[in-house]
Amino acid sequence: MKRLKTIRIVLATLFLGAAIAYVCIGPKASALAPVAVQAQIVPSALGVTLGATLLWLTLTFLFGRVYCATACPVGTLLDCALWLRRCVQPNGTRRRLGAGPPFRYRHARRARWEILLAYIVCLVLGVGVVPMLIEPWHVFCNVAALTHPSQAAAPWLQLGISGVTGLLAGGITALGIILSGLFWGREFCTVVCPVGTILAAATNYSFYHIEIDPDRCINCFECEHSCPSSCIKVVSRLVDDTRCVRCMECIARCPNDAIRLQLNRKRPATPLFIRHVTSTPS
Ligand code: SF4
Ligand code: SF4
Ligand code: SF4
Repeated sequence: MKRLKTIRIVLATLFLGAAIAYVCIGPKASALAPVAVQAQIVPSALGVTLGATLLWLTLTFLFGRVYCATACPVGTLLDCALWLRRCVQPNGTRRRLGAGPPFRYRHARRARWEILLAYIVCLVLGVGVVPMLIEPWHVFCNVAALTHPSQAAAPWLQLGISGVTGLLAGGITALGIILSGLFWGREFCTVVCPVGTILAAATNYSFYHIEIDPDRCINCFECEHSCPSSCIKVVSRLVDDTRCVRCMECIARCPNDAIRLQLNRKRPATPLFIRHVTSTPS
C-alpha cells in the first residue's frame, strides 16, 4: 500500500515533464509530449473527442481523484511547493523531511460550488478570462508563458488581450501557485478549481475510499497533519473523500497501516449494542 505514493510520484513527474515539453518546446519535443495535453480533461472535453474525459471520469468513479494525483500539471506544481514547505524552514535552513508545519482538518467550503457555477456561466456566455485564470490546463499554460511567450500566451491573444497581459498573468499565477502550496497545501484544488469540484462530485460515488481502520489507529495524527487537502479528522475517524486528491501521503506516513485505500467502508470497531445471552436456570 505504501508503494502507491511512489507510483503516483513517478506518474505525476512523467506527466509534468511531458506537459512542460509540450508547452515550452512543442508537440514534437518527445513522443510523450502530445499525450500530456490529450490527457487533460478540459482540452479533451472542449475538443472533438471526449476520450480522456470519459477515461478520467471512469477512473474517478473507481478510485477517486487520480487525475489530480497524476495527470494535472497544476496539482504537481502545488506538490512541488508542498515539498518545499516540508523541507525548508522560514529562515532558509533545511529541516528533517516531513517536519513541516502541520495541516489540520477544515470543513469543506461552499464557495467551491459557487465558483464552479461562475465558471460554467462564463463558459456559456463566452467570457474567456475567468476560465483562463482558474481552469488547470490554462493556469499551467499561463505559467509556461514565462518561458515561451509566443506559444503559451496565444490564448490571451485570441481573447484580444495582449501577450504582455498573458505574461503578467503567468507571473502572478506562478507566484500564486507557490504561495498557495506553501501556506494552504491543496486548497486551490479543494475550493477554486472547477475541474476538482466536478471530480469531487464523482468521487462521492467512487468504489474505493480512503478509510481509517479504527482497530489499528493509534491516534498519532500523522495523517491529519500531513494531509494537504485538510480532509482528515482523526478524532472522528473521518476522511472527506470528495476533497482527497489521492496524494497517498497519509498512507505513506501512517506508522500502523491504519489508513488505507480500500473497497469497503470499515465498520466501527466498538459495537453500539451488545446482546447478552443469559442462561436459563435448570
Ligand atoms: S483540483 Fe484542479 S488544479 Fe487541483 S489537481 Fe485537480 S484538476 Fe488540477
Ligand atoms: S486523505 Fe489527504 S493525505 Fe490522504 S491521500 Fe487524500 S489528500 Fe492525500
Ligand atoms: S497516521 Fe495512522 S495511526 Fe496515526 S492517526 Fe492516522 S490513521 Fe491513526
